[in-house]
Amino acid sequence: SAKSKGGGHYCFFTEKMRTNADRILKKELELRHALTNRQFALHFQPQLNLRTGRIDTAEALIRWNHPTRGLVMPGDFIPFAESHGLIDEIGDWVMTEAVRTAAQWQEQGVRLKVSINVSPKQLQRVELIAMIRANLEHYGVAPSRIEIEITEAAIMRDEGHSFERLEKLRDDGVTVALDDFGTGYSNLSQLMLLPMDRLKLDKSLIDGIANDQRKWTIAIGMIRLARDLGFQVVAEGVELPEQVELLEEAGCDFIQGYLISKPLPQPELLALVDAFQAKSVGRAA
Ligand code: C2E
Ligand code: MG
Ligand code: MG
Ligand code: MG
Repeated sequence: SAKSKGGGHYCFFTEKMRTNADRILKKELELRHALTNRQFALHFQPQLNLRTGRIDTAEALIRWNHPTRGLVMPGDFIPFAESHGLIDEIGDWVMTEAVRTAAQWQEQGVRLKVSINVSPKQLQRVELIAMIRANLEHYGVAPSRIEIEITEAAIMRDEGHSFERLEKLRDDGVTVALDDFGTGYSNLSQLMLLPMDRLKLDKSLIDGIANDQRKWTIAIGMIRLARDLGFQVVAEGVELPEQVELLEEAGCDFIQGYLISKPLPQPELLALVDAFQAKSVGRAA
């Protein structure tokens, strides 16, 4: 044990442990403080419908307006929140804020669906469905105006219940997307049984399709497989025009990525949606 190695080591070891525990506690407190002091915000990344040329869905992505560190990205706190018991509260905030935004769009006559990331931990909660329904009811939002995004890991963790929960949401009219598709290790034939509407092909599968024949072969195969099984396909992380050409050729339905736009605060998103809307109307005329 650490103790048997002598007093010096023992002290050093516990000191380090305490520093680590302090760091964790500090971050937990900071995140709770962020929740109560409204330091979180949602940005929205548009998805372009390749068939219509319109933007009809936007993914809600959380940001943390930190008082000293500036805009903190979710990679810096969402995994931490998941492993330290804070994801339910943050997830509840995200859901409420996203549905509230969907209500505004609905009132303003903006035809835009909001897609909301739901973490594996949240999907394990019995109350998730009731929480989503309560939000939709409270804000008077049609269920078809929201989509939830979940990862393979989330479903594989607790298959029976996850499937059941997702089916309930889909019965209500909420659509479900599988996020980061192609990064997991699940059985493909099983994946195809999922109660899902759309598959989001991860950026890692899109990167390189324009200059690596093997990557392109895999991407086109995945897209055809998914579409033949009745799923809509969203390509994530599209950065180059050459990728769009290939994805169109493969029959991909939607693209999301920096080529169209980075995630934006709501007002800027709506301006972009209008610009695309005007263009697509022009094209149809
Ligand atoms: P995700 O759901 O797969 O979201 C896509 C991420 O890829 C976003 O990063 C987005 O900004 C980034 N991205 C989109 N297009 C491009 C591109 O063309 N190039 C590059 N390099 N990146 C692109 P972000 O916003 O940092 O979010 C990271 C992850 O954090 C998300 O991955 C999601 O798993 C998680 N996350 C974000 N918001 C929430 C939330 O509200 N709840 C939960 N549970 N997780 C969230
Ligand atoms: Mg997502
Ligand atoms: Mg994704
Ligand atoms: Mg991803």
